[in-house]
Amino acid sequence: MRVAVLGGGITGLAAAYMLARAASAAAPLEISLFEAGDRLGGLIQTEQWEDFILEGGPDSFLTEKLDAIAFCRELGLESAFLGSNDARRRTYILHQGRLAQIPAGMALFASRRFVPALISPLFPLETKLRILREGLSSRAADAQTSRRDESVADYISRRFGPGMLENFIEPMLAGVYGGEPENLSAQSVLSRFGQSEERSAKLTRGKIAIQKGAGKSASIFTTLKEGMGQLTRAVERQLALAEKSGIFRLCLRQRVRSIERLHLDRAGETPRPAYGIHLEGGTHFEVDAVILALPAFECARLLRPISSRLADLLSSIPYTSAVTVALCYCAAPPNLPGGFGFLVPRSSGGKLLACTFVHNKFDFRAPHGGALLRCFLGGARQPGVEAMENHELVAIVLTELRKILNLMKEPSFSRVWRWPQAMPQYNVGHADRVREIEKEIGNYPGLFLAGNAWSGVGISDCIRTAKSAATKVLQMADGSHY
Ligand SMILES: Cc1cc2nc3c(=O)[nH]c(=O)nc-3n(C[C@H](O)[C@H](O)[C@H](O)COP(=O)(O)OP(=O)(O)OC[C@H]3O[C@@H](n4cnc5c(N)ncnc54)[C@H](O)[C@@H]3O)c2cc1C
Repeated sequence: MRVAVLGGGITGLAAAYMLARAASAAAPLEISLFEAGDRLGGLIQTEQWEDFILEGGPDSFLTEKLDAIAFCRELGLESAFLGSNDARRRTYILHQGRLAQIPAGMALFASRRFVPALISPLFPLETKLRILREGLSSRAADAQTSRRDESVADYISRRFGPGMLENFIEPMLAGVYGGEPENLSAQSVLSRFGQSEERSAKLTRGKIAIQKGAGKSASIFTTLKEGMGQLTRAVERQLALAEKSGIFRLCLRQRVRSIERLHLDRAGETPRPAYGIHLEGGTHFEVDAVILALPAFECARLLRPISSRLADLLSSIPYTSAVTVALCYCAAPPNLPGGFGFLVPRSSGGKLLACTFVHNKFDFRAPHGGALLRCFLGGARQPGVEAMENHELVAIVLTELRKILNLMKEPSFSRVWRWPQAMPQYNVGHADRVREIEKEIGNYPGLFLAGNAWSGVGISDCIRTAKSAATKVLQMADGSHY
């Protein structure tokens, strides 16, 4: 059976790896991976500059979501696990021109500890009274079970008032989703954090297992010693072996232009092969199954010749862009705060969304005595920011950091990465939209979607969806015994 995996980001890589592993254990598969760019990894882009390890895209994954941990283990990367330095974990929010610490025990609006929230300068008295009265954790459960979707802004304002929304929730969501609370879905976004809280309680045992396996304490975030690129390199090595044995083919610089459904036979049965993959430049392949590990708008473009309804549904998932700027200091500027970094609410009027103090968050990222600041711009707050020149972007973050941190020192050097249309927005009605998409694509046997647009935006979510798509392909190949 011939399978095409479209997209060489972590989702496509994970799907191709799982299929190649099954093929090497005798599943009857020929796998091709088509990637438009000239490198694999997609949003994962790690670079070493002097003694700095810089991440242009994701810098880690959440340890409690075990798919990424399990995948790294399978690739033999266990000894490379690097946990965040949680003893130094403090995150701040810019509030009235100063950095105020996020109260301990607070994850989004769910809190298991009331006292830190009640004495925090972040919340006005009205919000504190509501925190007390409503009992936060039981309300988190409400968000998960509520049937009617609504915006995060409506949900939070109703429960906790504008102080919670503007001073805490809005900057959190801008940092994670690059989105606005007026548009984001309470059901898809808040319940995910709620589940995450639940899971973290339930997964304590899992964490202990990780702790034992990795030989160190389980931290909130996990990365790899050489950066996230170590993960994609490990997959690439495995795929190169599969390529040698003839079960896998890597097609770099091959942008897929469209997907065609080959004619049904007289009985209306799906033919084998079922789909034509048309590449830019005119080449054409025929395959039995396709895993689309691509942004939703790209899936829409490719699938429009097959189903305009499916394409319309897919293109209704909006995206925002992101820019990251790394400021590298060979000698740390004086008086940088401790902790992992800070978030900036829209009420500040600035362009900076967030800044991570990478040298505190992880070891081995900056030289001894140095500092690495990773700044985020873009999102729904500043559409089009990715069109600015590098020097303008660096100037913006330095100007804002001067005000916020009193940072006067110029960095030893800086790097800028642009990620146009990279962050899917789980807007109100997202869960229903995804259900409709799943129903519609079910009419086309052999087509599978995976990636960050459906059920979670993190690396671990991508790996989970890749695994699910690969499993369905194996079931199709009657490979349930693998
Ligand atoms: C700035 C930033 C920071 C982030 N930080 C974190 C983090 O710390 N932790 C975390 O868990 N998550 C983080 N995320 C989210 C996470 O990085 C992504 O969800 C994940 O990397 C997406 O992987 P993917 O393979 O689905 O998509 P992508 O990485 O976007 O890969 C898709 C690939 O498809 C290719 N492609 C597109 N169209 C075609 C076509 N027509 N034909 C062939 N190939 C095509 C592209 O070139 C690309 O290589 C971050 C995201 C951003 C933008």
